[in-house]
Amino acid sequence: MIVMKNVRKEYENGTDALNGINLEIEDGEFVFLVGPSGSGKSTLVKLLTGEISCTDGEVHINGFDLTTMRLSRMSRLRRTLGVIFQDFRLIPNKSVYENVAFALRVVGAKPKKIRERVEYVLDLVGLVDKKDHMPGELSGGEQQRVAIARALANNPRLIIADEPTGNIDPELSREIMQLLVDINAKGTTMLVVTHEDELVDRFSKRVVMIKDGKIVRDGTGGYYGHE
Ligand code: ADP
Repeated sequence: MIVMKNVRKEYENGTDALNGINLEIEDGEFVFLVGPSGSGKSTLVKLLTGEISCTDGEVHINGFDLTTMRLSRMSRLRRTLGVIFQDFRLIPNKSVYENVAFALRVVGAKPKKIRERVEYVLDLVGLVDKKDHMPGELSGGEQQRVAIARALANNPRLIIADEPTGNIDPELSREIMQLLVDINAKGTTMLVVTHEDELVDRFSKRVVMIKDGKIVRDGTGGYYGHE
C-alpha cells in the first residue's frame, strides 16, 4: 500500500517538482500515473523507490515510513517492491536466467529456491525457452518481459513500472501492458507511469493525472476521462 500525505519536493536548485500530493493506493489496485513531460511523474516514482526524499510531508509504502526510515531498513522495503524501467536495465553479459537469479542471490535465497522461482517467473512471462539467451539476442518486448520476471523474483507486494512500454513497438506494448494487468490480477499492486493514452484508454483502470506537480485528476477510465 502507498500513502503520500501533503508531499512536497523541492530540488536543490529551487525547482518545486511536487506540491501538495495526497495519494492512497490500496493493496491489489492497478493505477496509471499520467501527465505531461515535466509534471513530476519521475520525481514521484523516485520518492517511492527511496532514491530521493521529500522536502515536506510523509511517504509510506507497505507499512514502511520512508520519511523517517534508516538506511538499514531500506533493503527490507526494497524486497517488498519491484521496479521496472523504460530502458529494461538488464545486465548485458548475463543470460536471461542469470539476470533473474541475480535478484534472488542478492537477498541470500537458497539455490533450490532460486531455481524454482526463476523457472516460475520466466514461465509467467513466457520466456522459459529463452532462459539461456543473452539480453542482446532478444527483442525489446522480450527484454522487458525479462525485466518484469526479475521484478517479480522476490514476490513483491507492489510493482512500480516507469514508462515500461517507452522503448517497445506499439503492438508489443499492448502485450506488455496486458502482462502487467494479468500480474495485478494475481494480487500484486501495480503503479504504471505512462504517457500512452491509447493503452490507458484500453484498460479501464484508475488514472491519476499530475500536472505542474499537483494531482489534477483521480478517477477510473480513460486518459482524459469523460470531463
Ligand atoms: P516527469 O517525469 O513528469 O517528466 P520530472 O519529475 O522529471 O517530471 O520533473 C518535474 C520537475 O522537476 C521538472 O520541472 C524538472 O525539470 C524538475 N527536475 C527533475 N529532476 C530534477 C533535478 N534532479 N534537479 C532539479 N530539477 C529537477
